[in-house]
Amino acid sequence: MKNRWLADFLSLFYPNYCYACGRKMPKSSRCICPECELHLPRTDYPFRSPNPMEQLFWGRVQVEAAAAYLHFRKGGSVQSIVHALKYGDRPEIGRYFGRLLGEALCAHAVFSQAEALVPIPLHPKKQRVRGYNQSEEIAEGMREAMGLPVWSRVLLRTVATDTQTKRSVYQRWENVQTVFRVASPSEVEGRHLILVDDVVTTGATLEAAAQTLKSVPGVRVSMAALAVDTL
Ligand SMILES: [Zn+2]
Repeated sequence: MKNRWLADFLSLFYPNYCYACGRKMPKSSRCICPECELHLPRTDYPFRSPNPMEQLFWGRVQVEAAAAYLHFRKGGSVQSIVHALKYGDRPEIGRYFGRLLGEALCAHAVFSQAEALVPIPLHPKKQRVRGYNQSEEIAEGMREAMGLPVWSRVLLRTVATDTQTKRSVYQRWENVQTVFRVASPSEVEGRHLILVDDVVTTGATLEAAAQTLKSVPGVRVSMAALAVDTL
């Protein structure tokens, strides 16, 4: 946001705070303190197939592979991290954890064969307010670890249309939540793409995005998220 320069300026004089536990941390630490880093609730999903995130999409959309780096729990450290990433004007958190996620997926038999990273787009209005798309920041971190390009203009979130005014409030909400389109189908035809999201709860957004991409001939989709809320 507009005050980022101020935050950067102040950080020269004020100590770093850990986004997970809120305590002061050494200047050399980035985003989270060594203690929190050590105790991050990492999943073993990149090393397990089928894993609970893949199972979440069974019968909904066919994907090559799916994995998340962290377990999401309400009130837990990952919720604090995600909150700062989405609402705290801290895009560098996305880069940081995106790199860790990418490192975990580098050696994966399926993910390592993919050709590009496609972040879930934000609604344009939301992105204007926030100043960045957190999923794109995660994808940029993954790019650094995996060497894959980030295609952030391939998938677009459609803007509400006139026909929606005739629908019920619930249908309208659902529509806004789940409608995507592919900007240039010829660019993605026949490709294996990794959809990148921040937190997966019901999986409705990833499911809709994957179905949209897979409507293009020959497209295969894998899914990677920073965190997942599964049991
Ligand atoms: Zn901490």
